[in-house]
Amino acid sequence: MKDRLSRAERSRHMARIRGKNTQPEVHLRRALHRMGMRFRLHRSDLPGRPDLVLAKYRAVIFVHGCFWHRHRGCALAYHPKTRTAFWTRKFAENTDRDQRQLCSLLASRWRIGIVWECSLRSADTRAAAVSAVVHWLRSDRAQSEIPVPPRPLRSRRPGVGSRPRTTVRGAEPGSGARVETTLSHPR
Ligand code: ZN
Repeated sequence: MKDRLSRAERSRHMARIRGKNTQPEVHLRRALHRMGMRFRLHRSDLPGRPDLVLAKYRAVIFVHGCFWHRHRGCALAYHPKTRTAFWTRKFAENTDRDQRQLCSLLASRWRIGIVWECSLRSADTRAAAVSAVVHWLRSDRAQSEIPVPPRPLRSRRPGVGSRPRTTVRGAEPGSGARVETTLSHPR
């Protein structure tokens, strides 16, 4: 089993997808708790065992590892150079499972927040991510992805691309600190 991941790296990655209580997740939990948000962890009666469940807001939050859950356009979601068929299948399984769980939660009227781990890695982007989560929780939006995914080029027409943004003072441009919430409809 030779590929780009060393044994230690692989087991770290495995812990991230299988395990709970990862560092990014703990950071988010602490920050939300400090802001007075109350939640339950890993409710096993819900699809995908969401990392946080905020019943008051009818909301669940998943802290997704960028590699395993394939954060589009993210450097952490690289494709290993060897055993490509294995990884391709693995990634497809993961994203299919995510999609099924998402549909099933939306069908039960849960609101769903996806927070990518890369937004929780450094202190400056973390603050922006946390405030985007809180902003979304207090909104009536069904879904939110943090950081917000870039729009496809074809939809960038004048007047269409201007959306409200949350900017954190002191954050570097391009640091991923710019976050916002998006709304998509259940399929
Ligand atoms: Zn990412």
